[in-house]
Amino acid sequence: MNALQPTTRQRCPHCARALKTCICALAVPIAHCLEVLILMHPLEVHEAKGTGHLLHACLPHSRLLIGERFEAGLLHQALHAPWEPGARPRHSLLLYPETDVQNTSLGLIQPPALPAPWPCQPEVLRLVVLDGTWRKSRKMLFINPGLQSLPRLALSETPASAYAIRKAHAPGQLSSFEATALALARLQAWPPDAAPVRQLAQVFAAFIQSQQRQRSA
Ligand SMILES: [Zn+2]
Repeated sequence: MNALQPTTRQRCPHCARALKTCICALAVPIAHCLEVLILMHPLEVHEAKGTGHLLHACLPHSRLLIGERFEAGLLHQALHAPWEPGARPRHSLLLYPETDVQNTSLGLIQPPALPAPWPCQPEVLRLVVLDGTWRKSRKMLFINPGLQSLPRLALSETPASAYAIRKAHAPGQLSSFEATALALARLQAWPPDAAPVRQLAQVFAAFIQSQQRQRSA
């Protein structure tokens, strides 16, 4: 075999997929001002059906950290420190589905209320997204007190997921990409026909198509 040809073992440094299944070309940079911190579970990094890398590639104001239990100082920095020198401080919100977490007695810190007055301008918000199956996301919340101390934003009246190729989500839950796109649209106050809403929907539709093609190949 020609040594210059990509082998199946070689991975794209951006989306962590094998080079022949790289999805980076699907990404479209979206104009947004809300900051997005993606905390990706290590099992999600090479997950072919994962959407965290694609999300990161579409959002210029996003950062991606990989881990399950984060060192407290590092997490605090990622959650609360300005990303740009001299930038205004931001309120971090945890995007988290309304689940039975509130009803369990497992010692979770009660989340503080959303910043007042609500809604805040997107320029002062940082959305924190847990990228993993719902079990892994819940574990990340349970073992990182820094995440529990964030106000939680739950999406209500979510549409059904278009992501039928993945069953790792609880009923009513969306993929990280869909949930974040929906949260972005609400926090940025984008109308349904706004360009970023359409672009994100198109990127996601193209991603699903590419996954279906690969499955049938
Ligand atoms: Zn790639």
